[in-house]
Amino acid sequence: MSPVIFVDEGVCYYIKQGGSEALSGSLVKREGETETVLANITELWYVQNSTAYYEGCFSGLGLNGRFLYLNTPDKIIRFDTSTNTSETILTIDTSNGYIYGLKVSPSDDGCIITYLTATDPMISNAAIHSFTDNPDCPDGHNYGEWEVTIQPKEDSEGERGRTCKDCGNTETEVIPSLSTENGYVYTVEIPATTQIAGQAKWVHPEYGTFYTVIPKLPEPSATTLNEALTDLSFFDEYVKGFDLGSKIADYIEGDLNIAVYKADGTTVVTDDKLATGYIIKLFDDENNVLDTATVVIVGDTSGDGSINAMDYIALRLHLLDIPPMTGAKLKAADVDGNNSINKFDYIYLRLYLLGINPAISQN
Ligand SMILES: [Zn+2]
Repeated sequence: MSPVIFVDEGVCYYIKQGGSEALSGSLVKREGETETVLANITELWYVQNSTAYYEGCFSGLGLNGRFLYLNTPDKIIRFDTSTNTSETILTIDTSNGYIYGLKVSPSDDGCIITYLTATDPMISNAAIHSFTDNPDCPDGHNYGEWEVTIQPKEDSEGERGRTCKDCGNTETEVIPSLSTENGYVYTVEIPATTQIAGQAKWVHPEYGTFYTVIPKLPEPSATTLNEALTDLSFFDEYVKGFDLGSKIADYIEGDLNIAVYKADGTTVVTDDKLATGYIIKLFDDENNVLDTATVVIVGDTSGDGSINAMDYIALRLHLLDIPPMTGAKLKAADVDGNNSINKFDYIYLRLYLLGINPAISQN
């Protein structure tokens, strides 16, 4: 029976006898009630110069830091408890006997392994040998900080790595993709708008903090002229509020399919200054008309885009009923903005043209 190595409360290692031709023994870890086989020893301890063997496993067991040492009949094995991997560190010539146990003595200069060879389990013809083993970082690696080598994304995993400052051993691990299901806490740092992209923050208790870009919001595509044009007043099928001499482009927000036509609906005058009676049309991507409105420039009763003597004459003729104005021109005739068209509009317009009245309100 080998020594039992206690490492933590409730955790120990020992060699368990296998007792068969196929298995002489096993290195076992015991945690509470759970036994785990870490490695098997299949070699047999033969009778010297014979094919007969002694039943049993004659391995010693010792611990230095994270390394366990054990022996087979002709080898000293170092078992790394952090990775559960074995490495043979010594193979002996068995002409004078097999190994029947070892002792581990950690020292400042390394780990001294003392082992005993003999020709049988009764320890006949015994000899004691020792050597020093200097594995990298027996007390565990002295890792630096994790460094992210591949950024995780919402649709892909990342990766991080760290390096032992003492021996240079590196290890890498996967960083899960950015998802609240993977334990990240998601917050919006900068909300996206139609003008700027935003930023999201993902905080994971183990893997740290990552940032992702929130794409710009798509431009809302307007379905009415009221949505498409700013700072204007829509009423019935009309629109007013334009500055005198302005163009439709002065009022369009974003990239919209808008055209302006003369009152007859045929000639496109999109780049001209707006005039009473012009028709504004909003189209969708397939050039279907979504909305229409007729321009009213208050005071421009003649429909030439300016306020001048022509408007004064038109208003006077209207008041005389020869001919009466209709539609957008009639709306444009309400120069004083009191919702009725009468001689006061005519007087107001005349005083404006004489430079006595201030600018005519377009609102
Ligand atoms: Zn190391």
